[in-house]
Amino acid sequence: MSYLRMSELDLTDKRVLIREDFNVPLASSEVSNDTRIRAALPTLALALESAAQVIVMSHLGRPSEGAAVEGFSLAPVARCLGQLLNMEIPLISGYLEDPAAIGSERLVMLENVRINQGEKSNDPELARAYAKLCDVFVMDAFGTAHRAQASTHGVSEFAKTACAGPLLAGELDALQRALASPARPMVAIVGGAKVSSKLEVLQNLAGTVDQLILGGGIANTFLLARGINIGQSLCEPDLVDTAIKLMERTHIPLPSDVVVAKTFGAGAEATVKLVAEVADDDLILDIGPESADSLAALIAEASTVLWNGPMGVFEFDQFAVGTRRLAQAISENEGFSLAGGGETIAAIDKFGITESLSYVSTGGGAFLEYVQGIELPAVAVLKSHRQK
Ligand code: AMP
Repeated sequence: MSYLRMSELDLTDKRVLIREDFNVPLASSEVSNDTRIRAALPTLALALESAAQVIVMSHLGRPSEGAAVEGFSLAPVARCLGQLLNMEIPLISGYLEDPAAIGSERLVMLENVRINQGEKSNDPELARAYAKLCDVFVMDAFGTAHRAQASTHGVSEFAKTACAGPLLAGELDALQRALASPARPMVAIVGGAKVSSKLEVLQNLAGTVDQLILGGGIANTFLLARGINIGQSLCEPDLVDTAIKLMERTHIPLPSDVVVAKTFGAGAEATVKLVAEVADDDLILDIGPESADSLAALIAEASTVLWNGPMGVFEFDQFAVGTRRLAQAISENEGFSLAGGGETIAAIDKFGITESLSYVSTGGGAFLEYVQGIELPAVAVLKSHRQK
């Protein structure tokens, strides 16, 4: 069962309501990173070609429902989008009480949906009110697709037509290509702080991949499970049994050398050691160069690569070498490479390799939920809508 795509529809003379994820960082009331806004430009440009009116909605931050929008207004986003599209974009408040407030400009933006009572609880009355604003509802906010809320889920149930926008469809196509029937060999790289926060990701990937490369605090727990002394390193001893079971299910190449320090911090002195030499007072903060080389060789041979999470404390340069080396190997891979997750995108930005990956997801939580094998509720409702 599939969903309708915006590109399949004739939008001529239609009022098109598009849910984007414009939850972007702000600094001094201006957008400080416009990646998510730029990612939506092809969707908006396509809709603008034929639709009578394009109405964009999004959330921003976590304001209280029913509260004044102060501090959470989408005004900086409307300004930024206006500059990118080279047009004036009116920001509309009070559209629920008075839908006529939307007016007739070609493209308008609705004020932050999270101040609307019932948004988070997916209230059917609110969802119905959103649906009444349009002829076609376009869900394009991949970053919010794992949340069943009135503007991401409920509205699709009540809209005359509901479909996936090009950004959402592109994300789903990339994830499906990497996970549903990947070209082999497939390698996944999962790093980051804790096994517990990525347990379902690891469990799902263990049933799919040919090699599961681990790094960061996650790898420490697996080294401990192999009986290796990891000193004072971040780890979760209660997940050692889980780690052993995962290692029985799939091939998990663990680091043979690591970068350690005696303290955690920007000024900490980094020392490379074989894992067998880690001392009781050492902190493992990165994979070592020998490990990075052999893991990079595995990545080079892969036809599909999926990456989430850093190999070490990449925020500090002396512990960023392993993440940088693997990021470079992923960017040089000639197969299909897909990366996602908040910290991963920060690392990709830091190393400047965005353009050389096949796909960089705009989603954090949504990306991880998909990789866990969970059906995203905002996508499920689009599929059922098609069956009506
Ligand atoms: P996550 O959000 O789970 O992907 O974790 C990302 C964070 O894990 C980053 O901020 C890293 O600094 C941190 N991290 C990675 N490796 C280690 C490590 N060996 N020890 C402590 N923290 C780590």
